[in-house]
Amino acid sequence: MNRYPKRDDLRAMSGYHSPQVSVPVRLNTNESPIEPPTEFVRDLAAAVGDIRWNRYPDRAARELRSAIAALHQVRPENVFVANGSNEVLQSVLLAYGGAGRTVATFEPTYQLHSHIARIAGSTVVNGNRNGDFTLSEDEVRRVLTDHQPSVTFLCSPNNPTGLAEDPALIASTVATAPGVVVVDEAYAQFSPHSALPLVNDESRVAVSRTFSKTWSMAAARLGYLIGPTWMIEDLDVVALPYHLDALKQVAGITALRYVSHMERGVADVVAERERLLSEMRTMPLTVWPSQANFILFRPDSTGGARSGGARSGGGPAGGAAGEIGRRVWQHLLDNGVLVRDCSSWEGLAGCLRVTVGSAGENDAFLVALRSAVSARD
Ligand code: PMP
Repeated sequence: MNRYPKRDDLRAMSGYHSPQVSVPVRLNTNESPIEPPTEFVRDLAAAVGDIRWNRYPDRAARELRSAIAALHQVRPENVFVANGSNEVLQSVLLAYGGAGRTVATFEPTYQLHSHIARIAGSTVVNGNRNGDFTLSEDEVRRVLTDHQPSVTFLCSPNNPTGLAEDPALIASTVATAPGVVVVDEAYAQFSPHSALPLVNDESRVAVSRTFSKTWSMAAARLGYLIGPTWMIEDLDVVALPYHLDALKQVAGITALRYVSHMERGVADVVAERERLLSEMRTMPLTVWPSQANFILFRPDSTGGARSGGARSGGGPAGGAAGEIGRRVWQHLLDNGVLVRDCSSWEGLAGCLRVTVGSAGENDAFLVALRSAVSARD
């Protein structure tokens, strides 16, 4: 039987997937290298026995929302929960994006902002970052004024470039945006500041967070948003009934009892990140600074180590850099280490992104990287 055509506007799109290759060292999706505490697994196993499996879960996820609210010292009415922060973003875009509406992003940034916006039927406009990946107020103002977006995304720390956005820039964007502003803080625990203090019922800003990174719970798919009450009400309209299953609700509540374990894990990852950065800066790479649990880097085409400044414009950032990046990516893979190839992301030809792993994983990465960049010469 002939296939039935999908929507015209989806024809040119492919799904968004990070390869799931079975290799000993997987440093491509920014998960935590740390297992949750054994007490978490024990408590969760006990709680599973109390779930009434024949009944739908609490649709409003009240206990989980209250626990998240307590963590951030907000009211449960300011918390929306979903299946990963990707579903949070999708809900925002279903409520405020869509046909006839515009969504703004500043590239390079997390690709799913544009991707989900398009799937929701929105028009996407991409502003640009400066050469060093910071964002200028002029560029933000230009995009907001020219395109009047219904939804504006900021990502802090920004994936894949690594730095948190300037707090003054976030505040001025929130003050001038004509629609809602979402600050994606998937990596917030690594960052020196958060946009959470800007959230209140009179503002149009919301902050999205995830349990997938620092909470060591990527397997559970749980994310949330802190926003004004009216926004939470709007998101509840677009969420499917009972979208958050009972097991996940209880996993989130249980994880929140182990905040100090999570914080120790963040400190360990930050120490490993600094070790990786200093080792990588001795290699013929351009290495960008990071306030997250990953590092963006580009193998130099000329040799000689440099550390994160302007991205190169023409020259090596074009085909040659892309080719070298792919060769280094393949060499790492051949040595059992999977990192993210960011070459296809706008403005990132030849760039790779490595997640900070355990000390052993990072050692394996450094050995493989050193041999990859010297094997090229
Ligand atoms: N936002 C950013 C910036 C991310 O990097 C990711 C994960 N790669 C997400 C959101 C989605 O996270 P999750 O759906 O696992 O909560």
